[in-house]
Amino acid sequence: MAELVVIGGGLAGSEAAWQAAQRGIQVTLYEMRPDRLTPAHRTGDLAELVCSNSLGSNLVDRAPGLLKEELRRLGSLIMACADATAVPAGGALAVDRQAFARLVTRRIADHAHIHLRREEVKSIPRRTLTVIATGPLTSEALAAEIAALTGQEYLYFYDAMAPIVSYESIDLSRAFRASRYGRDSERDSEQNSGRRGGVGDQTGGVGEPPTSSSSSEGDYINCPMTGEEYDRFVDELLAAETISLRQFEQEDAKFFEACLPVEVIARRGREALAYGPLKPVGLVDPRTGKRPYAVVQLRQDNLAGTLYNMVGFQTNLRWGEQERVFRLIPGLERAEFVRFGQMHRNTFINSPALLRPTMQFKGRDDLFFGGQITGTEGYVGSTASGLVAGLNAARRMAGKPLIVFPPTTMLGALCRYVTSAEPESFQPMKPNFGLMPALERPVRRKRDRHRAYTQRALADLAAAIAGQVGDGSS
Ligand SMILES: Cc1cc2nc3c(=O)[nH]c(=O)nc-3n(C[C@H](O)[C@H](O)[C@H](O)COP(=O)(O)OP(=O)(O)OC[C@H]3O[C@@H](n4cnc5c(N)ncnc54)[C@H](O)[C@@H]3O)c2cc1C
Repeated sequence: MAELVVIGGGLAGSEAAWQAAQRGIQVTLYEMRPDRLTPAHRTGDLAELVCSNSLGSNLVDRAPGLLKEELRRLGSLIMACADATAVPAGGALAVDRQAFARLVTRRIADHAHIHLRREEVKSIPRRTLTVIATGPLTSEALAAEIAALTGQEYLYFYDAMAPIVSYESIDLSRAFRASRYGRDSERDSEQNSGRRGGVGDQTGGVGEPPTSSSSSEGDYINCPMTGEEYDRFVDELLAAETISLRQFEQEDAKFFEACLPVEVIARRGREALAYGPLKPVGLVDPRTGKRPYAVVQLRQDNLAGTLYNMVGFQTNLRWGEQERVFRLIPGLERAEFVRFGQMHRNTFINSPALLRPTMQFKGRDDLFFGGQITGTEGYVGSTASGLVAGLNAARRMAGKPLIVFPPTTMLGALCRYVTSAEPESFQPMKPNFGLMPALERPVRRKRDRHRAYTQRALADLAAAIAGQVGDGSS
């Protein structure tokens, strides 16, 4: 009998296997633990949470809370087990991690259509419907296979992510739009966000910035600094607390090669940043008519123009410290950090180049990817793409058209982002409202706006569930 193979019994793989099995598909789920542990996992349980026991906000009008609600409405195993093992955590959904992982394991093991095999998969099955959900710490043998399939330049081994701020929180009375020397869509090789751990690419990527909707004014938002502001910023940056890297990250020789964290550059000399990522050349502050002493550039991060990343600001500072120190930058005093910068080991593929929004591999119709390996970041983001991969793999086996969730849902917005972002500068992404299309009628107050996003998302999801979904079949 035809079966679906799911590789990896983490959050995404367990969800993918469950979704397919619930639709009557026979599933074999491979998990290499406990025989082979990853550097972060400690147990043999499926869906082990490797760090925090919090799955983030449970409030439905917050982006992570909305995603949870959407997953519940789609019959998510991970959400059902999380709800059943929740511990008090205010507006967040936190779980008893042991009870949670054991419950997921039991429900998978007890499912009549799932065969759980404790075995490392070292090669990608051929001519077999497969979901790969091996996560950020995919075993070496399989990672080499994935690299051979995708091309080595499309597989990365670590993240060095710059923070992303919401456009609406940038003070444009202090910051100004411009491209260096007035060139729009300029290339910014030396200031690129820098994340690149691909086996064949240790040089730091060269990124073509996405074209700004207002390119006549310049592609970048520039935060100008005086000499005094620069000095204060460097002082605070040097004094800020950093996260200590885990042993396995320190051992990875490739970890720091390609892109230095902004605080490490600052340690190389007082003016290192002013001659590096903060260099002001080719820029004139329209308010003073002069070249600033230093400039922090923000680059558009999504097509809607609601998110901007801090160019060259990959960092290992603690999140609270990032907020404190980066808000010293003129124009970012009230910045809302949609994503903080971070550096950690993270195996992921270049999904915009490789996947369809159905989570199907472009080069092989019977192969799907789900979870953090696709760039949907975090426990719930990983679960979400795992759900889509499992659901669509089941539909493919049943001969039904594949599903693309509407971009107005958080699930659809996340899948759309990771499969349509700029491949040159692609980085993993957590759920956030900035990924969604603008509301038809603008809503001024942030809280009301988020409520409107939520109402629209849940209505559109209901319509999608009722069968009015996009057809993503290949
Ligand atoms: C150190 C660290 C800390 C993190 N902390 C947080 C946090 O606090 N909050 C948060 O939201 N996210 C955190 N993350 C991200 C987190 O990993 C993801 O959110 C989530 O676990 C990803 O789910 P996944 O199913 O894609 O991968 P995983 O949960 O990692 O599951 C992948 C599974 O595949 C198995 N596997 C790997 N290779 C093979 C193979 N070849 N054959 C068979 N099985 C295989 C692994 O053993 C694992 O069980 C952290 C990640 C790391 C690395």
